[in-house]
Amino acid sequence: MSGAPAAAFFDLDRTLITVNSGLLYAKWEHAAGRLSRRRLAQAMMWGALYHLDLIDIERAIASALLQYVGVPEVEVAANTAEWFRSEVVQHLAPGGADAIAWHQAAGRPCVLLTNSSSYAAEVATAEFGLDGWIANRFTVDGKGLLDGGFEAPLCVGAGKLLRAEKWAADNGFCLGESWFYSDALSDLAMLDGVGHPEVVNPDPRLRRLARRRGWPIRHWKAPK
Ligand SMILES: [Mg+2]
Repeated sequence: MSGAPAAAFFDLDRTLITVNSGLLYAKWEHAAGRLSRRRLAQAMMWGALYHLDLIDIERAIASALLQYVGVPEVEVAANTAEWFRSEVVQHLAPGGADAIAWHQAAGRPCVLLTNSSSYAAEVATAEFGLDGWIANRFTVDGKGLLDGGFEAPLCVGAGKLLRAEKWAADNGFCLGESWFYSDALSDLAMLDGVGHPEVVNPDPRLRRLARRRGWPIRHWKAPK
């Protein structure tokens, strides 16, 4: 559909922020005594493999969620908000903030599109002045306790594109007119799915691909 309005989608980890928030969260949880050393090591390995698109992310998330079965969702949301404000907000890349302001000035909503939890995405959206978020939602039982499940599809790989397509259809936007910013090859489906893909701080594989396809390459540095 042409003529439908455009939106701008942003990956979070190593794109809008210059760090991998999943690893920071695992360290925070470990420091608080809620995550074992073994689980911390596992999370760090998964982070590296995810970046390289070498992991079955569904299995990794299902396994990580086992730690939180029976924990009240409100508690996880509160911990996540505290963590995000204490450890993550300061890593917003100035280049990312500029891109958000540029799109918003042109009337385009800026939407976080991330493999993070809904709890982190909500805080990020508020803190960074974004207009909306698409992220992973975990399921709860009748008492509001996490039950170890998540809503499918996960917001990764082809799932990111599916979730963004649904958001665009529900809200009257056209992905063919829209932007997406990402640092990772694991986001290739979504990069291919928008009219204006831009890669941010790409690794060599993604940089080669971006050059071949003529996609803009951004270098968003850490804040001073
Ligand atoms: Mg990323």
